[in-house]
Amino acid sequence: MTIQTGFVVIDPTNGEIRAMVGGQNQNFGRGLNHVTGIKRQPGSAFKPFAFAVAIDNGYSPAFTLLNQKFNFNGWSPDNANADYSGYMTLRQGLANSINVIAGRLTIGGIAPPNQVVKFARRMGIKSELAPYPSIALGTSEVTPLELTSAYGTIANNGVHFTPISILRIEDKNGIVIADFLPEYKEALNSQTAAILTDMMQDVVNYGTGAGIRRYFHRPAAGKTGTTQDFADAWFVGFTPQLVGGVWVGFDDHRIKFTNWYGQGAKAALPIWAKFMEKAYKELDLPLKYFNLPSGVEAVNFCVETLELGDSRIAGTNCPDVITDLVMNKYMPQECELHKHGVQIKPEDKKGDIGW
Ligand SMILES: [Zn+2]
Repeated sequence: MTIQTGFVVIDPTNGEIRAMVGGQNQNFGRGLNHVTGIKRQPGSAFKPFAFAVAIDNGYSPAFTLLNQKFNFNGWSPDNANADYSGYMTLRQGLANSINVIAGRLTIGGIAPPNQVVKFARRMGIKSELAPYPSIALGTSEVTPLELTSAYGTIANNGVHFTPISILRIEDKNGIVIADFLPEYKEALNSQTAAILTDMMQDVVNYGTGAGIRRYFHRPAAGKTGTTQDFADAWFVGFTPQLVGGVWVGFDDHRIKFTNWYGQGAKAALPIWAKFMEKAYKELDLPLKYFNLPSGVEAVNFCVETLELGDSRIAGTNCPDVITDLVMNKYMPQECELHKHGVQIKPEDKKGDIGW
């Protein structure tokens, strides 16, 4: 049984397909195109859509959820490493691809399944998506092209461009017969896109996608995906200039990888990372960073409140703080645990907003 791969690279700022490898057979019209012609479960590579909803609903990456198993109407996902703990931030949950954290987003009303479907559609997923809580773990099948294109929405500050491979058709005299203009729409709030991008940078800087750093050192963000019993391995990632998606698996759905080498980080990620290293070198692309738009700011959180499952902005007396991003329209309340003797004037007290 041959291992198959689909790989596509798109310019997220205009939707133009820059590279596509649909399979071994390079002759057009021969063989299956594994970018456009297959539908597979994305697994954890779908998690960013659930996190996008959570952030858009006003939850900071420093918001915490219990890293413990749950049973929701018979649905009880496991963590891949069977490792559980106390409260964990959304940022850590995405970076380390913790299933129960993603699951708690959809069962807890933080990212309701209907809303996840709506967001994924707007961002570029065309395939049917089932609005069940398990959608957070990527149980609905998608094509590599649509998944990559939807990640491009995150890379492009929330604006989605429909993928386009043909720009113009001319006759033999160079007369233009047809012109294809990119179609785009604002799919995601730019603040939400920026915070999600920031979290997805941690995936490749210290999380499950850290393997890209063996090859590629520019600012980048992404997510790994591995489906049940290692049937499919995914890595989808982006820089400010390019978004690329890799699927590795088998044409026969019954065939699976036999072991850990079927993980997205092992089977799919190196293809992405080696391509990006080469493409940046050969095309001599300028160094670009991801930007934070106005309305997003970095604030200090009180670590003790995070560990208690009630993330609060740190006051001057909080002993231990971490910095994370918030949308300033959803500013969390201040820590009440460590305000010792500090006079709080009533007019300084913030209203009970968001969470
Ligand atoms: Zn405190």
